[in-house]
Amino acid sequence: MLRLDEPVSFIQGATPSVRRAWETLGIKTISDLFEAMPRRYDDYSKIVPIRQAQTGEVVTIRGQIVKCVKLPTFRKRFQIIRATIRDETGTIAANFFNQVWLMDELVPGRDVFVSGKITTHPRYGKGLIGPLWEPAGGEAVIAGKLAPVYGLAGTLVQKTYRRLVRYALEHVEEIPEILQADTLTHQQLVPRANAFAFIHTPKDMAEAETGRRRLAFEELLAYQLALRSAQQEAVQAGAPIIPFDERFAKRFVASLPFTLTPDQKRAVWVALQDMAKDHPMRRLLQGDVGSGKTVVAAFLAAHVARAGWSAALLAPTDILARQHAVTWQRFLAPHQIPMILVTRTDKRWFLGREERQLSNAELEDLVAQGHVITIGTHAILEPHRLPKDLALAIVDEQHRFGVEQREALTVAVRQDGRVPHFLSMTATPIPRSLALTFYGDLDVSPLREKPPGRVPVKTFLCVGEERERAYEVIRQTAARHERAFVVCALIDPSDALGVRSATEEWKRLRQGPLAGLRVGLLHGRLKPVEKEETMGQFVNGELDVLVTTAVIEVGVDVPEATVMAIEGAERFGLAQLHQFRGRVGRSTMPSQCFLMTDTEGEAIERLKIVARVNDGLALAEEDLKRRGSGDLLGTAQSGHELFQAARLSDLALMTAAREEAERMLAVGAIHELPLQQFPYWQERVRELRETSHLE
Ligand code: ADP
Ligand code: MG
Repeated sequence: MLRLDEPVSFIQGATPSVRRAWETLGIKTISDLFEAMPRRYDDYSKIVPIRQAQTGEVVTIRGQIVKCVKLPTFRKRFQIIRATIRDETGTIAANFFNQVWLMDELVPGRDVFVSGKITTHPRYGKGLIGPLWEPAGGEAVIAGKLAPVYGLAGTLVQKTYRRLVRYALEHVEEIPEILQADTLTHQQLVPRANAFAFIHTPKDMAEAETGRRRLAFEELLAYQLALRSAQQEAVQAGAPIIPFDERFAKRFVASLPFTLTPDQKRAVWVALQDMAKDHPMRRLLQGDVGSGKTVVAAFLAAHVARAGWSAALLAPTDILARQHAVTWQRFLAPHQIPMILVTRTDKRWFLGREERQLSNAELEDLVAQGHVITIGTHAILEPHRLPKDLALAIVDEQHRFGVEQREALTVAVRQDGRVPHFLSMTATPIPRSLALTFYGDLDVSPLREKPPGRVPVKTFLCVGEERERAYEVIRQTAARHERAFVVCALIDPSDALGVRSATEEWKRLRQGPLAGLRVGLLHGRLKPVEKEETMGQFVNGELDVLVTTAVIEVGVDVPEATVMAIEGAERFGLAQLHQFRGRVGRSTMPSQCFLMTDTEGEAIERLKIVARVNDGLALAEEDLKRRGSGDLLGTAQSGHELFQAARLSDLALMTAAREEAERMLAVGAIHELPLQQFPYWQERVRELRETSHLE
C-alpha cells in the first residue's frame, strides 16, 4: 500500500524519466500527485455507433479490428499504421503515425475502444487520426469517460500520467480527513478520498467539479490561515508611528495645482490617522480610472518623508514608474523632498527642480542614508534598494503584483523589525470577498467622484468598415492638437487569429487611413530608452497617434489624449477595456472610445455592455460572472501557482474558508498556540509561508 507522504517513486511503473518530469512540475509525493489538478478534461464519454460519428466530433467507438496494415508513404522514417474497425453499423479507419508496434496489438478480431476526434482528411478520408485506444472488455480507462488532461514535462505523456495516477489511487492507504466533519456538511464538501478520485477519474463533469470544489476549499483555507497568522505577527511587531503634522498637511494642500475632491481629502485624512498608530496600516485606495489616486499617494509619502522616514512606490511598468516620478516631482518640489527613481535601466535623483542620473554606488549610499522617497519597478525589490527606515510602502495597480512582491515591500525590510504601513491603489474594483481573500483584513478608501469638469467618455462599437468613423475622428482630433491611442492585442503578425498586431497596424495606418499624421509605435518589446523616447514624444505632442499594446493599460496619464481606439476589442476582458478607456477623458475636453472588431455574436454583446456601462465596478462584476471556469486565481492574481483548484468565481467558498480560518485560529488563541490543535494545517501553512511569502 502507498502512503500519501511517500515519494512518487513508490508507484509501480514510475520510471526515472517520469519522476524527473513530475519533479519539474513540483510533484514529489503521492499527495502532490493527487493535488495536482488536470488542466481540463477531454470528453470521451460519448460512445457512438460508427455510422453516427460526425466529422469534428470527439467520440469513442467500440468495435472489432478487421485488419491492420502499414501504408506506403513517400517519406523516409514516416509510417502510417491503419486499423480498420467494424461495428454493426459500419467501418471506420484509425490512423496512427510511426507506431509500428501497434501492428502486434491491433490484431484482427480484437475488440477495442478508440477515442478521438472524427476528421475528414483529403488523403486519408474519414476516420480518426492518432486516437487513444484500449482493449474493450476489461475496465476502460478512457473509453466512455472524461479523460483528465495534465500539464506535462519532459518525455511524460498523458497516457502514462493517467495510468500512474490511477495506479496510485487504487493502491493508496486510507486517506485521512483533514477537515472537521461539520465543515464538510456545512459546505457540502466531499471527503478528501472521494475528491481525489473525482478529480482524476471522474464519471462526468459534475463529479470533476465536486472534487475541484473540495480541493479549492483546502487551498483557500491554507491561504487564509497563512495570511491571517502572518498578519497577527505583523500587528504584534508594530509599525513606525508617523505623527500627524497639521501645518505641513495644510501647506501641501495649498501647494497643489488643484483642489482635492472630498473623497481625496477623506482618503488622505483617514490614512494619516492610521499611520499615527503603532500598528501597520493596510489600506486599499480604490478609485475608477482617472479618479485621482496619485495625488493621495504622493501626499501620504510626502507626509512620511516630512516626518523623517522613507516611503516607496512600486509601479508595474517602467513607463508608469517614470510617469509617476515626473508627476510626484511636481507635487514634491515646493517642499524640497528628495526622491529617487529606480528601474532596471534607469537610476535618477530628483530634488526640487533638479534631476540627475545616479551611479549604482550613489544609489546605494542614498538608500543607506534613508529619509527618501523611492519610486520604481520590481527593481526596487533587489537587495539594498529599500531603505531600512521604510515607513510606507505603496503599490500602484496592485492586481499586477503577487503576494510575493507585497511581502518583499513590507516584511523584514526594517532594521527594528517593525512593519511599514501599506497602501494599495487600484482601479479594479475587487468584490469584497475577493479582497478579503487576497489581503485579509484590509480597509478600503473609495474615490467615488471624479475631479470636477470631467466629461464622460463616449464609447462606440465599430464593426468592420465602421472603423472609418474612428479614423475620421482621429484625423479631426489631430487637427485640434489632441491625441489618440490605437491599442492592438498582439505585437507580431498572427493572421491565423485575425488579430491586427500593433506593428502591422502601425504600418497600415501610416500608409492608409492616418497618412499624414505623426504616428508612433510603442510596445513592451522595445528597449526601455526607445519606449521612453516614444512616450515622451506622445506626451509632448510630437506624435498625434500612438499605436500600442496592453502596455498602456494602466496608469498612463496624458490629459491631451481624447481618443482611444481598441483594435480587436473582443480579445480583451471587460474590465481591461474599461482600463484602456480610462486613458482618455482625463481632462475637461470631451473624449471618445472606439471598440473595433470583426467578430459577431456573443462577443458583440460583451462589447455592447462596455459601450453602455461606464462604471468600472459594474463591469468588473459582469466580467466575473461571465468568465466562469478556467480563469485560475493562481495565474490571474499572483503570477504563480498558489491556487490550482480555486477560481475567481468561487466567491462563496472564499467566504467560507475565511470563516473557517478565523474559527481555527481562535481555538489556538485561547492558549496562544496558533493551530496547535490542527497539526496537518500547521505544517501545510508553514510550507506555504516558506514558499510563497505572505504578509
Ligand atoms: P488615477 O486614479 O487613474 O491614477 P490620476 O491620479 O492619474 O488618476 O489622476 C488623473 C488626472 O486627474 C491627473 O491628470 C491629475 O492631475 C488630475 N487630478 C487629480 N485630482 C484632481 C483634482 N482634485 N482636481 C483636478 N484634477 C485632478
Ligand atoms: Mg494611476
